[in-house]
Amino acid sequence: MENQLNLLSENYGFKIEGKTAYGRIGGIFYNVIIVNFGTFAVITAFVSGDIDSAAVKEYLKKNKRRFKLGQWEIGEKSVSVQLGSATFVKADKIHEFVADFSGFLTGAGYRSGCAMCAKDENLGYTLQNGQILEICNSCHIAFESRMDEEKQTRAETGSYAKGVAGAVIGGILGIIPWALFGALGYIAAASGFLMAFLSLKGYRLFKGKIGKGMVPIIIAVLIVFTYAAIIVNQTIADYGAYPGDKSGVSIPALFVSELAAPFSSRDIIVGDYLLTPDTRAAWGQIAMGWFFAGLGSFFFLRDVFRISSGKDLEFKRIGKDGGRGPDAPLSQ
Ligand SMILES: [Zn+2]
Repeated sequence: MENQLNLLSENYGFKIEGKTAYGRIGGIFYNVIIVNFGTFAVITAFVSGDIDSAAVKEYLKKNKRRFKLGQWEIGEKSVSVQLGSATFVKADKIHEFVADFSGFLTGAGYRSGCAMCAKDENLGYTLQNGQILEICNSCHIAFESRMDEEKQTRAETGSYAKGVAGAVIGGILGIIPWALFGALGYIAAASGFLMAFLSLKGYRLFKGKIGKGMVPIIIAVLIVFTYAAIIVNQTIADYGAYPGDKSGVSIPALFVSELAAPFSSRDIIVGDYLLTPDTRAAWGQIAMGWFFAGLGSFFFLRDVFRISSGKDLEFKRIGKDGGRGPDAPLSQ
C-alpha cells in the first residue's frame, strides 16, 4: 500500500500525509487513499464551483470500463471514485485516470481552489477530519478558531452522569433485538451493532459529555447489556422448555435468578420447577455474545474513539507551497 503511494509521489509529484497522497494534477486537487489491501484506490477530486452531477455521472459511466471504476459519490464540491479490480491497483493506472478526469473537469470549466472561499491564492494544505484540503490562509485562520471554540464548548457542556443515563436507556432498548432474534452468530453481530448504536444515540440525546470518558462508559454499557441480553434469551429459552403448565412461572423472577446463574451453580427454583444451571455453557454463550457484539460494533466504536478524542474537530495546517500544489503534466 505504501509502495503505491510512494510511486504516486515519486513519479507524479503527489505529496504524502499519513495514508493519503494529495496534490494537483492537471489543475485539479486530489486526495488518494489505497484501501482493501491495495486492491482499490479511493480518489477524491476537489473543485471550487458547484458540481453538475449529471455531467460528471455521464463521464464516469462512459469511462467505467476503461478505468475499472467502482462506486462513486458526487458531492457539492467533490467527487469520490473507487478505482481498482481484484488485483493490486497500480499507481500508473491511478494517474492515468486522474489525468483524464482533470482534462474532463477543466474542460467543463471547473477549477480547484480554497475549499471554503474558492479563491485560488495563498493556499495551503489543511488536514480536516481525515481529508487534506486546499484552504487559503485567511479561511484557515477563521475556521481554526471556530474549531477551537467548538472544542471549548465541548469541554464545557454536557456531563458524564447524563451520558451514562442515556447510554443505559439505549442499552436497555438494545436488548429488544436480541430477545426477538436470538443470540448467535451474525445475528448477535447485528444486535451488537444496534445496541452500540442505541447506547451512543442515548448518550448524545441526554447530552453526555463528549470527551475521553465516553469510551469507557459506552464500552461498560455494552458489556453489561450484552450480558443482560443473553440472559434474557436464556430466560426465554428456559421458560419455553418448562414442561407442562407454565402458569406458576413468573418470567421476571426467572430472569432475576438467571442473571446470577453464570456465577453460581445453585439450583434455580421458580414456581414448582427446579433448574440446574450449567455455568460453563452459560459463560460460553456470554463470551460468544460479547465476541460477535464486538465484531458488529467495531466500526461504530471506532467512531466513538474518534469523536471522544476530538479527532473529528481536527483542523491542522500541514504545509504550504505558495498556493500551488504539485502540478504534473496532463499526459505522460
Ligand atoms: Zn479561503
